[in-house]
Amino acid sequence: ARSRYAERRPKSLAVHQRACEVMPGGNTRTVLYHGPFPLRLAHGEGAVATDADGHRYLNLLGEYTAGLFGHSHPVIRAAIDAALDGGVNLGGHNMFEAELARHVVARFTAIERVRFTNSGTEANLMAIATARAFTKRSKVLVFRGGYHGGLLYFGGGGIPINAPYDFIVAPYNDTDATARLIRENASDLACVLTEAMMGSGGCIPARPAFLAMLREETHAAGALLILDEVMTSRFGRSGAHGLLGLRPDLVTLGKWIGGGMSFGAFGGRAEIMAMYDPERPGSLPHAGTFNNNVLSMSAGIAALTQVFTPEIAEALHARGERLRERLNEVFRKADVALQASGQGSLMNIHGFRGPVSTPDDLAASDDRLKELVFLDLLERGFYLARRGFIALSLAVDDAATEQFLTALQDVVTERRHVLA
Ligand code: PMP
Repeated sequence: ARSRYAERRPKSLAVHQRACEVMPGGNTRTVLYHGPFPLRLAHGEGAVATDADGHRYLNLLGEYTAGLFGHSHPVIRAAIDAALDGGVNLGGHNMFEAELARHVVARFTAIERVRFTNSGTEANLMAIATARAFTKRSKVLVFRGGYHGGLLYFGGGGIPINAPYDFIVAPYNDTDATARLIRENASDLACVLTEAMMGSGGCIPARPAFLAMLREETHAAGALLILDEVMTSRFGRSGAHGLLGLRPDLVTLGKWIGGGMSFGAFGGRAEIMAMYDPERPGSLPHAGTFNNNVLSMSAGIAALTQVFTPEIAEALHARGERLRERLNEVFRKADVALQASGQGSLMNIHGFRGPVSTPDDLAASDDRLKELVFLDLLERGFYLARRGFIALSLAVDDAATEQFLTALQDVVTERRHVLA
């Protein structure tokens, strides 16, 4: 499968080789690297992306959730054009940022006040810094397998280059062990940072009782609960915390909320966020040249108000649930060692059978099976993440979904001898 991939993509290879002359590994986003050399995408329209060699793919990766609208959605594009018409890099407060903030606050129940950043990574770094300043404590509890940005990664692979905070790494979805760690560290604990569904960690939903424990125990310890909704903010009408009726102290956002432009945000309780009010004596600084850039702000307003309304969000969530059930039906009927986990429109195909309830369960997943499925699906014109991650976009319609299921069925049938 690897040699067929390479043979059919000479232009991707040539661009990659040129890139390697000026960028380490020809790469500026580690997650996009895969062997034998990564796909070079040249063009996108709606749900379809085209590579440098002219192959067309149904884009099921959805830019790791930021591509919620498909490529170049007309409404988003019009909003970006309108911002361009008004001039970029104004270097002052502009007409967009407060409006976007109002829509964010209206949408997400736990966000009373918000500030914008350029990425989800920055949003999480800011949220941690906020919690440390607010509580005047130092420790940060996170979960093994969690990903909150390139400087906040708690998975197994690679050498960590994390921000130098005093981290406690707990087992995700293990209610008793985590409660014990929070209690043991209660007097030094600034915050717990978690996702309601571990996204990059393999689309593993948190047990509701686990999240309820985090809320109770952080409250009792006087620590803040930070919910990273960079990926999960697309769930239901009001993100994962809205679905669950959970009230974290701080929430971080990113990805689709900037309409597909660079984006991040952190927000939450007004009392905490007030530390950034420049009028307040001893206020905290939060800087960033592009925090209020007009392209992200304008595209974000269009995204929240016109394209991904709460009703559309609920409908997409339901579509995702159905797709995941059908993927698992294909795997079950063919009796192969594959399965899909996830929630709503976010899912991950894993290379083994049996339940996925914690990141530790994924140790059993066979990475070679995932690579085979990835390369076989590419050959048939379907693009998902090398690691098996799928983030449905609004551009993927029912007909495209059926084609994907048929292709997957074909892959599973053809490769049954290795996948079984
Ligand atoms: N948090 C989560 C849960 C994420 O999935 C990501 C990105 N995959 C981030 C934070 C980091 O966001 P960004 O890539 O915009 O820095």
